[in-house]
Amino acid sequence: MTKNAVIYARFSSDKQREESIDGQIRECRTFAEANEITIINTYIDRAMSARTDQRPSFLQMVKDSAKHLFDYVIVYQLDRFSRSRYDSAIYKHRLKKNGVKVLSAKENIKDDPSGILLESVIEGMAEYYSAELSQKVKRGMTENLLERKWIGGVLPFGYKLNENSQLEIDASTGPLVPKIFDACLHGKKITEIISYMNEHGYHTARGNKFSRNSLSRIINNLIYTGTFTWSNTEYPNYAPALITKEQYTAMQNLLESRKKSHNHARVVSPHYALTGKIYCGECGLPMTGYCGKSHTGATYYYYRCSSKNNKKEKSNRENISCNMKNINRDKLEKLVLDTTVSILKNPDAVKCIAEQCMAVQKAELENKPTEQLRLESQIKDIEKRLKNCVNAVENGLISQTITNNIATYEKQLAELHSQIDTIKLENRIIPITEEAVIYYLNELTKRATKKDGCSLETFDDFIRRVVVKDGQIDIYYNYTPVPNILENPAVKMLRGSSENHLVTR
Ligand SMILES: [Zn+2]
Repeated sequence: MTKNAVIYARFSSDKQREESIDGQIRECRTFAEANEITIINTYIDRAMSARTDQRPSFLQMVKDSAKHLFDYVIVYQLDRFSRSRYDSAIYKHRLKKNGVKVLSAKENIKDDPSGILLESVIEGMAEYYSAELSQKVKRGMTENLLERKWIGGVLPFGYKLNENSQLEIDASTGPLVPKIFDACLHGKKITEIISYMNEHGYHTARGNKFSRNSLSRIINNLIYTGTFTWSNTEYPNYAPALITKEQYTAMQNLLESRKKSHNHARVVSPHYALTGKIYCGECGLPMTGYCGKSHTGATYYYYRCSSKNNKKEKSNRENISCNMKNINRDKLEKLVLDTTVSILKNPDAVKCIAEQCMAVQKAELENKPTEQLRLESQIKDIEKRLKNCVNAVENGLISQTITNNIATYEKQLAELHSQIDTIKLENRIIPITEEAVIYYLNELTKRATKKDGCSLETFDDFIRRVVVKDGQIDIYYNYTPVPNILENPAVKMLRGSSENHLVTR
């Protein structure tokens, strides 16, 4: 029933007073434990040099998210997640598509809240940016595709390349493909086929032993009918066919029917949109998702003060006894959603939020990355030394050492300048206009007003924290509170009122 997460930690040696990797992981583990989240993996990037772009683990983590094995990425602070807000928005968007959310173990006071909002606006626009990017890649690829040239990546099993870089049937492995399809369609088990292939010494296109994954890549690949699919477009007669279209369709039907019977047994764990953000106002501990059955047998979903969780396991912890009642998940989430939407329906509030986003963006455009500042000061230093050498030469002082030094300094300067250019390129900011922000926020609200297709998740980045006390719910937003316009109506709504139907038991 519990949700899975991975930890992502990053350490850059050039920053002073940075929390160590161990410290970051410890905080993340504590956070996960308090929120009843199971950690299944840890990804660590240690900046090896000043070049900050080296983050193989980060990219691996994003890639792994497609396997749908974890629900969250926990980071120590949000600034650990990514280099820049733009970069962060794009990767968060990609994770979200795989159903993965980024949680921060520690609130960063420095990470200014309206910055998070700006990020969520950019994230909403990330779809546009990635579409544009793929268009560019597409243009380059199309030429190769039209010439039926292999566009790169691992060759499909059973094929080899001819001298024109086109696919050709491999005489030794090609005939195995129709055999695999035949065997499968005649009811042979996948495991039997895998062991047959391995016992006979066959290797996958990557040169490995056959596994469930590699076999599934074969029986799901349309290329064996001769048609190549790339970026949602089909290119028929791309390669010599190894099976018929009918065989391929029959295989897909078979796989689909197996999947259905498989899905039937799968239990989907319930979703709690406020995980990591909801706190008990009585004792201060996080509240966690919990489901229980009523005497009629119906299932109810709650948020529950985590002081009530796993009493036995927490014997080594301070035992907090808290009288906080469980809160109905659906009612609470609806209240938070309605409140958020009602704020965003106010044009003055939207304008105010957009202005704050613009202020953050302006500051960021003016601020040079710390790495760039460091390189610039190195350049100044070397230029000074170079000047000294040149002065010495001008004053008639000529020696081999000085000549060598001048050559070294000039080489170093060229290197530093090219590093700065790289940083400038990596950190380039695509400015967003205030109108675009307002438009985006209005679109969100419109979507929310329609009955379907809107959940609290849509406004996830707006909500910083929800604190629940008997009869009172405080919602903290990621914009700096501005009196009058952005006052939070939820607080008033429940304070001292009889509206405590949210509380159960
Ligand atoms: Zn409590």
